[in-house]
Amino acid sequence: MGIDFGATVMSRFHQSWAFSFLVIAFCFPLPLSAINITLDYQYDTNNFFGAGNPDGATAGAEARATLEAVADFYSGILTDTFSSIQTPPPFVGQLDTQTWEWSAIFSNPQTGASITLVDETIASDEYRIYVGARSLPGSTLGFGGPGGRGWSTSSNGIGFFPGENAQISQIHADFLADLDYREEMSGFSAWGGAVTFDNSTSTNWNYDGNAQPAYNENDFLSVAVHEIGHALGLGVSDEWDLLAMGTNFFGIASQTEYGSQVPLACNPGCGHWAEGISSVVFGTATSQEAAMDPTVTQGTRKQLTALDAAALTDIGWSVVAPSYDPADYDTDGDVDAADLVWLENWYGVNDNADADSDGDTDGNDFLIWQRNYTGAVPPLASATVPEPSSLLLGAMSLLLCLSRRR
Ligand SMILES: [Zn+2]
Repeated sequence: MGIDFGATVMSRFHQSWAFSFLVIAFCFPLPLSAINITLDYQYDTNNFFGAGNPDGATAGAEARATLEAVADFYSGILTDTFSSIQTPPPFVGQLDTQTWEWSAIFSNPQTGASITLVDETIASDEYRIYVGARSLPGSTLGFGGPGGRGWSTSSNGIGFFPGENAQISQIHADFLADLDYREEMSGFSAWGGAVTFDNSTSTNWNYDGNAQPAYNENDFLSVAVHEIGHALGLGVSDEWDLLAMGTNFFGIASQTEYGSQVPLACNPGCGHWAEGISSVVFGTATSQEAAMDPTVTQGTRKQLTALDAAALTDIGWSVVAPSYDPADYDTDGDVDAADLVWLENWYGVNDNADADSDGDTDGNDFLIWQRNYTGAVPPLASATVPEPSSLLLGAMSLLLCLSRRR
């Protein structure tokens, strides 16, 4: 009898195990693929992104909301899949123990001093950017770049058996694949980076992502787009340097977008487009100076352009273009009062607010604005990013899982 009971239990176990396996097989082999840019404020100890902002707490909160919106925008257009980075646990052999360590190295955004963080855990698809502010020299509004990395491994020097050595080699190779490549096949990758903004009281910022800057204001959103672009490797990576020859950029996607090799500003490094290079706001036909040239004019806003996005592609990112509502004339991800101002400015003048693509700005475009009105929402973030097919598959498998659980 006891044997029978055991057999029953076993068979139930097998059944339930097989069922679980079926569910897991549907759920997990189709990962959502998109980069998640996370902003880390732990070095913003003067609280520029809060109550310590020179222009007050409201300005600080506005700066933070705008920076988060820009990070979300990039997260939405980058569809790479990054592995996590995690220090392996020690390997304990019969006679000896092998340990690992890795370092994230970057400039403290508040002081500029080098910081080394040991054995951070970076989640799958996470790209972590440390943010802060300090007084930057001259007319500099921001700095940004990817972080560096280092690793080491050590034992007590006694030694391991051959079978143990094989296991250690495998652990080591897996660890470095995460750290050096995030398990990407090619192109730029890193654990993240750092950006900093100028907090000099003489610098007049427009922090509001939903409002264009006044004629004498520096647009924070524009600088955030530029510096996070650097943190993602634009102008500051081996992959960029390989394509920057002489004073031109030779990336294929960038050349296709621009029509020829793209001139660079070199003073002395060649990490920017030449001053004044023109493109279109990414995902639109609206002309705009590229975000990654060396300057932004006071009183103007610059978003990521198709040329900047092409350079992201050239250095190895997978990029999808956002699509905007036709009545989102200022392409900030919503249809609101600012778009009406835009429409009023060009009404009967030209096709700058041409929602129905008939070559003018008229009453029909006003009706479309009215119909599509959303009100102000965080800038950029709500621009619809077309889902790559893997996202669609992920969503489908999720539905399958839910119905099976029921
Ligand atoms: Zn720059």
